[in-house]
Amino acid sequence: MGGVGRSGPALLRWGGFSRPLPALCRPCSVSSRPAARSASWRAYPDELFDFYQENGIGSVGFNVEEIEGPHAASSLQQAGTPERFRRFLTRFLTLARSADPPLLVREFDSSAAALLGVRRYGPGARTQENKPWAIVNVDCDGNFSTYSPELLGVSSLTHGGFTLGNLATDSLERAVASARFRRLEDEVGRGVEMCRESCANFPFCGGGPPANK
Ligand code: SF4
Repeated sequence: MGGVGRSGPALLRWGGFSRPLPALCRPCSVSSRPAARSASWRAYPDELFDFYQENGIGSVGFNVEEIEGPHAASSLQQAGTPERFRRFLTRFLTLARSADPPLLVREFDSSAAALLGVRRYGPGARTQENKPWAIVNVDCDGNFSTYSPELLGVSSLTHGGFTLGNLATDSLERAVASARFRRLEDEVGRGVEMCRESCANFPFCGGGPPANK
């Protein structure tokens, strides 16, 4: 483990930049979610790159703010955002690819793999989030679900919550066999098939995350 927050740049701080990052596990890649949740990070590609380099972080991903669940709007809808985001990524990728070894950027690698036809997650696969049990999400109370992690914290008129069990009382086998999961699996699967049949972007997108549909 390596504590990195105290020397990190001010923009890489949790919750309005008022608290330092928690300790990071060096062998793991680190999500840039804390920075990506604020509009400010897009102005600091050099500072972010330096932070990752100084702390031995070899792989990053940018979880940009999305419209999903109860969040009906995004700060990324502000005028000029596409241009700022393009400038940020162009500069960050230039730095990342010139590093020795190169810093891996999830968004670039997964997009390049999709364009080149590389099957990153197996035949026909593009995104893990619409594959049943490719991801197992567990919340702080032990409730678990699959598909998009964001679904664990939201509910819908059709499905209610998306929790499929609790670690303390339910087995994975029981959850997989449940009518609740079967219904969810059927609906997500039909959504992916609709995308496959109707959308020219399907080879790149793979049907998208259920949480965004
Ligand atoms: S871009 Fe939208 S409609 Fe097209 S495959 Fe992806 S999720 Fe489906």
